[in-house]
Amino acid sequence: MADKTYRPATQLVHQGADRDPVTGASAIPIYQASTYHHFDGEPGEFDYARGGNPSRKQPEEAIALLEGGVEGFAYASGMAAIAGALSLLKTGDHLIAPADLYGGSYRYLTRILPQHGIETSFVNTSDLRQIKAALQPNTKGLFLETPANPLCSITDLKGAADLAKENGLLTIVDNTFMTPLLQNPLALGCDVVVHSATKFLGGHSDLLAGLSTTADPELARRLKLWNNSTGAVLPPFDSFLLARGIKTLKVRLEAGQANASILARRLEEHPAVKKVFFPGLPHHPGRELHHRQARSAGAVLAFELKDNAAAQKLMKSVKLPIIAPSLGGVETILTHCWSMSHAAMPAPLKKELGISPGLMRLSAGIEDVEDLWDDLSNGLQN
Ligand SMILES: *Cc1c(COP(=O)(O)O)cnc(C)c1O
Repeated sequence: MADKTYRPATQLVHQGADRDPVTGASAIPIYQASTYHHFDGEPGEFDYARGGNPSRKQPEEAIALLEGGVEGFAYASGMAAIAGALSLLKTGDHLIAPADLYGGSYRYLTRILPQHGIETSFVNTSDLRQIKAALQPNTKGLFLETPANPLCSITDLKGAADLAKENGLLTIVDNTFMTPLLQNPLALGCDVVVHSATKFLGGHSDLLAGLSTTADPELARRLKLWNNSTGAVLPPFDSFLLARGIKTLKVRLEAGQANASILARRLEEHPAVKKVFFPGLPHHPGRELHHRQARSAGAVLAFELKDNAAAQKLMKSVKLPIIAPSLGGVETILTHCWSMSHAAMPAPLKKELGISPGLMRLSAGIEDVEDLWDDLSNGLQN
């Protein structure tokens, strides 16, 4: 593992390995190989590609360095990273998770985990008392997301991790929205951190990837076992793209975040917008807590329009944003949560959580903010 003393911006650029140890090439090559020769009859560092690959090693080292983990793991998707982390639970265990979590995670927790005899209680994790009230004798895990998807509700990571420790639970945090640059759950006492690297870490809407890490060597051993046993690993070319994306995270995120702050304030004043959800806004619930545990507000916000018709009209009229279920790209992405990111969630539950048919999620890209605003305000007017 590389030098841990560098600051995050430096780690992003240089990562664990910033040049090929064999040739000195300025980028780690795409090692497109399924297996590795045993010189002198002995296996080397790499043996068979499911277990490890030099291209994959780069983002794996990067995430461990950035999050303060002992070892990092790269997966074929964020959901594979989440499945890997949840493999730390076993049949008969009970899990507590936020009600307003990423739609794909909701699907995994409600459709796949029960097949393995693992049941989940969904609560409002912003209120630690609700986590406490959901505890059962067999509760073994706490799965968290903060700011949560899509209303940016805030959970107290340290408070939740302390509560989990007192009760012998493992805390797994999906840190996709914040990236390791803005929030470090392991430092707050959480056990495993996962990322959909498809989003900000990759950053260019051109790959599907997941990362995880932990500061506990025994948990790392078990995460590695699952990764090697299933082969849900990040392929060499995608590893190369991810390592390349991570190098520019700081400048991309800062630019997206600056745009998000401006757009959030202007949307708030727009007559067609009922409400804006963004941890950077002064009235946002949990704002102070968020800024204690994270370095800034991030680049994702949500806003509520009158109804589904207003949302459809906006999506048809805007020209710059990609209308799609994703976030964290250099281009602005507009998501209709009801039908896209949270399609897997039953309608009554969405309504209960405040995910209305008029709700839009906006992931601010790095375009000129005035062009974005012209486009959005034009779309809101029509
Ligand atoms: C996208 C996303 C995921 C799933 O990641 P994939 O790379 O699409 O599998 C999980 N959590 C959050 C918060 C996400 O935004």
